[in-house]
Amino acid sequence: MGKRCNRNRNRSKRRAIYCPIHNCYINSVSQKFPLFADTAGQLQQRGVGRKYALILVASKTAVSLTGEWLEGFWCEECQETKWYHVRKRENIYQVSVAPLELWQQAAGLAHPNGNPSVSEFTRKQASGKALVS
Ligand SMILES: [Zn+2]
Repeated sequence: MGKRCNRNRNRSKRRAIYCPIHNCYINSVSQKFPLFADTAGQLQQRGVGRKYALILVASKTAVSLTGEWLEGFWCEECQETKWYHVRKRENIYQVSVAPLELWQQAAGLAHPNGNPSVSEFTRKQASGKALVS
């Protein structure tokens, strides 16, 4: 604990979410978009038993992923808005750049960049080729 940390006592309401590149605070510029699991694997990754996961998916239940969402943030250093997959575990926030599949999982959300890869995806599926991403 040699270095003095920025305690930011006055701003304790601010969530401790940092730019993964610059480690500086980033400001939210959007609402939270909740994520839903649509495969058993996604649920299993999050600790749901395989049997139960299969039942949930088979019954087309939209299972929201607790403590996970997509949110847009502005970084002063990046000078741009980026969309992150945020995971909250006991007040610790983990952010990672949101991959395309998460956009498909998020309810009612279209990728902000017009999403050219979705049409690509559909085309590949239509021609029956395996998709490797
Ligand atoms: Zn940044």
